[in-house]
This record gives sequence, C-alpha cells and structure tokens, in this order.
Amino acid sequence: MGRDELLMIPGPTFMAERTLKAMSKPMISHRGEETGRMLIECIEKLKKVFRTENDVFILTASGTGAMEAAIANVVEPGDRVLCTTCGKFSERFKKIAEVFGAEVLEVASEWGDAVDPERVKEILDEHDDVKAVTVTHNETSTGVRNPVEEISRIVKDYGTLLIVDAISSMGGDHVPVDKWNIDICLAGSQKCFAIPPGFSFISVSDHAWEVINKTRRRTFYFDLPAYRESLRRKPPQTPYTISITLLYALEDALKLMFDEGLDNVIARHHHVAKIAREGVKAMGLRLFPVSEDICSATVTAVRLPDGIREKELRQKVRDYGVVISGGQDKLSGKIFRIGHMGRVTEREILATLQAIQQALLDLGVKVETDAYMQAIEKIR
Ligand SMILES: *Cc1c(COP(=O)(O)O)cnc(C)c1O
Repeated sequence: MGRDELLMIPGPTFMAERTLKAMSKPMISHRGEETGRMLIECIEKLKKVFRTENDVFILTASGTGAMEAAIANVVEPGDRVLCTTCGKFSERFKKIAEVFGAEVLEVASEWGDAVDPERVKEILDEHDDVKAVTVTHNETSTGVRNPVEEISRIVKDYGTLLIVDAISSMGGDHVPVDKWNIDICLAGSQKCFAIPPGFSFISVSDHAWEVINKTRRRTFYFDLPAYRESLRRKPPQTPYTISITLLYALEDALKLMFDEGLDNVIARHHHVAKIAREGVKAMGLRLFPVSEDICSATVTAVRLPDGIREKELRQKVRDYGVVISGGQDKLSGKIFRIGHMGRVTEREILATLQAIQQALLDLGVKVETDAYMQAIEKIR
C-alpha cells in the first residue's frame, strides 16, 4: 500500500516528489500578497494550458464542483439544456442540470461510442430555445474522446452556450478552448495536472458572461461573478478560502508542465496512450471503445477476457505493484481501465503492461509472452 504502488487509475494520479514537498510549506494568509501572486501566476499559466484568453478561475472543489458551477451559473428552472451522454460522467451533467430545474434534452450514445454531432444538430433544429449544450470531452468511464470541435462548429450557428467537461483531458490532450469556441470549460486537479484532488478550473467566455449576468443564479459558493470580483481586488483573491496547500502544489506542477513544454506534455500522453493500446491488443485483449480513432489519450478502457473476474484481475495486478481501475456502473465487471495521465511516461506504462500480462498468465489466460514488447518496439 501507498508509496511503493504505482497508481495508474484515471485520477488521482501519482505526483512528482518535488510537488509533494512543495505542499509542505507553512500556511499563509489566504488574502495576503503571496497568495495573490500565486493565484495570478497560476491563472495566467492555466490560460495557456486552456489556450484561452477567457477568464479562468480556480475553485476549491473537485471536478464535480466545477460541473455544478457551470450549470448553476447559466441554468434557471425551465431552461432547456441539451446533454450529450455516452457514459457515467456525461450522464452526471444531465443529473446536475435536472437538479437545477432544467428541461433536459438528451442525445444519448451507447457506452463505448462517441457523441454523434449530427444528432446534436437535429435537436438544435427542432428546438430554438436551447440555452446550453453539455459535452464531456474525455468520457473517463468508457475511455472515449468526443468530437468537441465538430460539435462546437454546429453549436456556434445556434448561439447556444457550449459547456465542455475536459476534467480528465485538459493538460493531457488538445483542448484549445478559444479555437473550439468553448464557452465554459472545466478541468480537474487530480487528473492531468498531477496534484491532489480538491481543485477544479473553469473558463468563462464573454458570451457565457452575458448569459450569467442575466441568469438568476441559485448558488452561493459557486457564484462566478463573485470569483471575478475577488480576483480584481488587491491583492487578488478568491471569495472564500482557497486551499493554500493545493495552490503550492499547482504552482509547482504548472512549472513542471511548462518546463517540459505544453506540446511535449500532450505528445507524451498520446505516445503513452498508443503504447497502452498496442500493448493490450498484443495480449489478445480488446479495447472497449467501438473504434480506435475515438480512444482517449489519457485513459484506456479494455474489455475483460472471458471468464476473468474484474476484482481478481485487479488484485493480481496490484500484487505486482500496480493499481488500475475497474468499470463503473453498468460496466462494472465488464472492463478494466488504465489511467495514463499526468506525470506518466513509458516507464510506468511498461511496468503496468508487464503487471497485466503477469496477472493474466497467473489467471490462466493464454497470452503470448512478451508479444506486447514486440508490438511496442514498432512504435517507439
Ligand atoms: C473525474 C471526472 C469528473 C469528476 O471529478 P471529481 O473530481 O471526482 O469530482 C468529472 N468528469 C470527468 C470526465 C472526470 O474524469
């Protein structure tokens, strides 16, 4: 347990030693100069990660808090919201919208498939009063990446807000917020940013602000205009106490990302994802997403081989020092998932594949030993 285990789940992700150390600094005032400096510097860097000139805020809340903030600031009871669903997290958006009284229209895809932009267009043609469309860029529960760029081109023509959950892809895959006209975009700390859970990041476009300003917002903690006001104060701050410890971690983690170079960070994630896919396929396993071109760059979902119990496989893999995830909700017992986001390199994904191969062999699955190494050789 603990330090010696390699954490290969889709968040939280393992942290750099130096980032852990950065977190052990003493508490300071949450409204002092030093906090203000860190806040502004982190936000400036986050804007570069988001590739946006929109406002970006740091919320002391896990990713779901940012999802709730996105909905709470634009939805009034009776408003129509189109939720695209294809897995557990995209369905969560629908649930949150319902809690805030939205009239939800749903474009549902099979779990394992991606959202079909044409169906989004159909619904927008049928209803002229859709206030917002929600899309989960990287559906962590199924390992699927959704075509946000295509959906955005459609949504743009209807003047509808585009809300994108990029919680498990921002910082690991291409999510250019301004290029894709994303009005509200979300990211989470414990995924590609490789710091502990507890922070989420949210970007807000001018169009989104227009809507927010006209909305009777039923939220106190997540009221975005309050975050904007506080950031303009001297020193810059947040309306309620920010997690200072997480801010130390974020500052350090962003420094690591920028030292490596954002393009290099994304290329590394794609490379590791490719190794993960080629590796499991060479073991005779099948990827869960319906086609490889929709596979996520940060999490790989794999069908369980016949006759193998998920818990047993995960326990065996863990005996070899690697923690992977199972399936969620209706995929429980049907798939396993390898998270490869954050600080992950070839070293960790190779150790993970080795542990999976050994576990499968132990469980009596016929695996051609080290075929995965040969498959990977070709792409290195
Ligand atoms: C992890 C995740 C969330 C939820 O984040 P929490 O930090 O667990 O609240 C939402 N959406 C996606 C796509 C995620 O991967």
